Parts: sequence; C-alpha cells; structure tokens
Amino acid sequence: MKKIISIVFIVTSLVAYSQNRAENIIIITTDGFRWQEVFKGMDSTIADNAKFNQGDSTYIFEQYWSNDVNERRKKLMPFLWSVVAGKGQLYGNRTYGNKVDNANPYWFSYPGYNEIFTGFADTSVNSNEFPSNPNTNVLEFLNRQPKLKRRVAAFGAWDAFDRILNEQRSDFPVISAFASCGGKNPTANEKLINAMLKDSYRPFGNEECLDVFTHYEALEYLKTKSPKILYIAYGETDEWAHSGQYRSYLDAGHQVDEWLKNLWNFIQTDSRYKNKTAIFITTDHGRGDKKKEEWTSHNNKIEDSHEIWLAVMGPGITAKGEIRTAMQLYQQQFAQTIAKLTGYTFKADHPIADDIMYLFK
Ligand SMILES: [Zn+2]
Repeated sequence: MKKIISIVFIVTSLVAYSQNRAENIIIITTDGFRWQEVFKGMDSTIADNAKFNQGDSTYIFEQYWSNDVNERRKKLMPFLWSVVAGKGQLYGNRTYGNKVDNANPYWFSYPGYNEIFTGFADTSVNSNEFPSNPNTNVLEFLNRQPKLKRRVAAFGAWDAFDRILNEQRSDFPVISAFASCGGKNPTANEKLINAMLKDSYRPFGNEECLDVFTHYEALEYLKTKSPKILYIAYGETDEWAHSGQYRSYLDAGHQVDEWLKNLWNFIQTDSRYKNKTAIFITTDHGRGDKKKEEWTSHNNKIEDSHEIWLAVMGPGITAKGEIRTAMQLYQQQFAQTIAKLTGYTFKADHPIADDIMYLFK
C-alpha cells in the first residue's frame, strides 16, 4: 500500500511540475482601457454626461449599470469576472492599494507597448511616431528558441506594431491594421477577411482598422497555424475614449471580453492547447479621471494615466481571483513574466525588469 501511495505521489508531482509552465501563451491588450472600468464597471458620472453618452444613456444604463459594484463590473466584463476571476488572478484594483503602473514617464501607446514587450522603460522611446524599435522584445527572443521557432505571431489593429515589435528584425509575422493576412496561401476565411477589411469603414483612418478584423485574423491563425506564442492587440477602447464616446468605449471593452471568452472556449476544446495555454491580458496605459472630464485622454500631463491592470490565467497560475493586498507592480515586469511563464529566461543587451512569477504560485 505504501508503495502505491508513493508512486501516486510521484506521478501527481510530475503532473503538477509539468503543469507549472504553459506550453503556449496568448497575450491580449486592449488599448487604454482603464482599471476603473475593469474593477468598478461603468462610471455613472461619465455615462450621465450628455457630452459623452452619445444621446443614449438609457442603453448604457440598461446594458451596464447595477448599484452593486460586483454585479456592475460583471455586466461589463462577464468572462473576466466569472472564468478569469474563478481560475486566474487580477491585479490593479487600487481600492485595495493593489497598484500596477507604467514605469515609463510618458503614459501613451508606443512607450507602453515597448515597456510590456522589452521589459525596459526606455526613456528614449518617447513618441508614437518613433521608428523601428532598437530594443529586443520578448516575442522575438522566444521566436529564436529552437522549440518556438516560427511558432510566434502578432496581430494588431494599429499599424505602429510593425515598428514597436520591429517586424523586419524580429522575423515573426506582425499583421497590423490594413495589411492582409494569410500570406501567399490564404485560407478561404482569410480571403474573406482580407476582402472585408479592404472595403471596411475606416473611422480611425488608414493607421488603424476596426478590432473585429484583427480578432478574426488572429483566431483563424490560431486554428490553422497552431502558434505557441500569439499576441492580439485591440485598439478601439482607446479610439472611442479619445473621441469622448463612452457608450462605444464600453461596448468595445465588452466586445473584447466576449472575444476572450471565444478564444478561451477554443483553447479549452482543442487538444493542441487544452490545459497547456496561459492567457495574459493587460493594457498599454491608463487614462484620466472623470472629475476634470479627463477620462478621454492620457499622457504625463493627465493625472492618473499611468495606472494600469493585469489579468492572467492558465498553467502555473493559482486561482486567487482579484488580488486585494497592497503592492506595487510595474508594466516593465511583464516581459520577463511572459518568458518565465513559458519556461524561458528573457535576455537582451538592455536592462530587463524582474518577473512576478512568485505572485502566481
Ligand atoms: Zn490613446
């Protein structure tokens, strides 16, 4: 009997060990989506303001309002507050002193994405027009590992991702904005996505497409090319906020939550991914506050727009839900964390901040 027990013990420890790291990881960002909405749901002051509710406060209140904060945030992000909160961890609720911030001093997109992926809050990266990124990103580092070679891909609604991730040097596909997907041999779905993308409405000009295209491009790639490391960058949350359209901002965030659910449902029903895939969800920067009507904007003159958040779920991540202890985390810690989640140590010839794996246990 003793023998059987010890064999069972060894087998279960081996299983536990192998599940301690993710074979695959999907990183998702939704641009400039505030921690305030993630943790507290819709803000009634902004929703009540005729300047921001797009003439339909009835719709947003019916859709997203509850007097109870837990109910309210679940109405906005139902997947995040059921499955991710049940199986994963969420950081950034400042109500409990749980803080996640930009370490870079700029609080806008290119510096934020640089910080997420290079682990280095490089002060020389100071504009959204910044040329191809000289810093090494964790995705290209992973793509250089023999087991991950050609198993890395990125899809972004904004065309700046070609420069942020230095597509030319990085040597993995970065499909952004209106670039067509599928390469030389697109699938039937990719052909349709490309045709619709080309003819689609362009509310954000030629630099950024609607999120729906980026999402379905990435999903098709996931299903047909089996990447081990996939990055999806949604952009509408930031665009609608800049134009002061709170209803569309909430709808975009809600839609991202729905897509997270679809991605997770696919992952957990596909043998290539089931129980061996982690998801890592965050944002590039925060935004201002409702008081000065600054929620629409973000940069280092807009108070609080350095405040961000993080949600994670998957192998090696204990189910702890919303973290309610005081701590200070920084965006620059994400790159090494992404590497460590997949079992690697990210190295580059610039500083890389320490990971936060100790928190996930
Ligand atoms: Zn912005």
